[in-house]
Amino acid sequence: MKALVWHGKEDVRCDAVSDPAIEDARDAIIRVTSCAICGSDLHLFHNLIPGMLPGDVLGHESMGEVVEVGSEAARTLKKGDRVVIPFTIYCGDCEQCRRGNFSLCQRSNRKKSLAEKVFGHSTGGLFGYTHLTGGYPGGQAEYLRVPFADTTHLKVPDGISDEKLLFLSDILPTGWQAAQQCDIEPGDTVAIWGCGPVGQMAIRSAWLLGAEQVVAIDRLGDRLSMAAAAGAITINFETESVIGRLNDLTDGQGPQKCIEAVGTESHVSLAQPDTLYDRAKQMMLMENDRPHALREMIYACRPGGTISIVGVYTGLVDKIPLGISMNKGLTWRMAQAHVPRWTQDLLKRIEDGEIDPSFVITHVADLDRGPEMYTTFRDKQDSCVKVVLKP
Ligand code: NAD
Ligand code: ZN
Repeated sequence: MKALVWHGKEDVRCDAVSDPAIEDARDAIIRVTSCAICGSDLHLFHNLIPGMLPGDVLGHESMGEVVEVGSEAARTLKKGDRVVIPFTIYCGDCEQCRRGNFSLCQRSNRKKSLAEKVFGHSTGGLFGYTHLTGGYPGGQAEYLRVPFADTTHLKVPDGISDEKLLFLSDILPTGWQAAQQCDIEPGDTVAIWGCGPVGQMAIRSAWLLGAEQVVAIDRLGDRLSMAAAAGAITINFETESVIGRLNDLTDGQGPQKCIEAVGTESHVSLAQPDTLYDRAKQMMLMENDRPHALREMIYACRPGGTISIVGVYTGLVDKIPLGISMNKGLTWRMAQAHVPRWTQDLLKRIEDGEIDPSFVITHVADLDRGPEMYTTFRDKQDSCVKVVLKP
């Protein structure tokens, strides 16, 4: 079959690889009808996430049709079922799954000892991601093997397009969890750093969960316009003072709730000298991430407020003003999204017409054009916000 394969830094190719087969009774094989490229894939593209190996098949946002089912997976799945596959692989009955912490599933990471060495404890298995999370082949491919498939799927009805359903695999529940982690109360201003696909979902989620005011921060005009179309007040961090505007919008008090939807690759510019410092330290392998947005959030957040992080960080960060956070009494919440915790509710909202996440799609291409689409998405060429691939 054809699949997008990671060969090293900025080297993704559409290769012929062997078809996946059932390896365990809980497996199923999916014929992928649609998949997408995520901001997390860009971190892999830039080789910022440790534990990738040449030959790894990428992709963790996929949906399709069940074509083969292992004997135990057959308890809940049959050939022909239409499913969205969450990026988190989960068993459904370990202690973490029972608590709803699906991205921390205690059984699904097949490279537990590697994760234990690096994280202290293992987290769950993820598709198309680092070997620290199992090194499972991903779904930017014609076919996908789904481990723990009897639990790791969301059945979706016919009659709704792939485009409306696909993002239940990741960015919609991720943006939703970002807002859920804020415990939004009446009167709250929610400020969101990053207007990529995840930030866009977080903006709409913050409104649905009762925000009084939503402020969206980025530098890219098309993305800021998309945020404004959802009713957010926008701040262009290249031309305006983020802290100044946020204070103006909140009577000098700062937003109660701050969402980080940027991740490890904060934009580097002379106007933000700390980003040059981070870039230099990254090049000397002395720091993993560029946490500019996080630093800014700690300064901007109202005392007693919440910092909700869904942007992906990979390791050690430097110059985090923890003393300010401690003295301001900030609450920090963060996670790889616990996708299935939210998807039944979100599917219902899509069916009811309350949410239509397809608005973020700017590019649709076949798998052969995948490598080119990685660059288009990375460079935000051609107003690219979200790429969907059709294997
Ligand atoms: P993206 O790269 O398209 O979006 C990031 C946006 O942040 C860009 O629009 C960029 O211009 C903006 N940005 C850069 N520096 C900024 C700054 N200093 N202030 C404000 N905005 C800034 O990626 P995406 O697909 O939207 O993903 C965003 C992050 O979420 C990534 O780190 C991704 O890995 C992560 N993610 C996490 C989960 C999860 O489960 N926690 C799931 C999906 C994605
Ligand atoms: Zn993702």
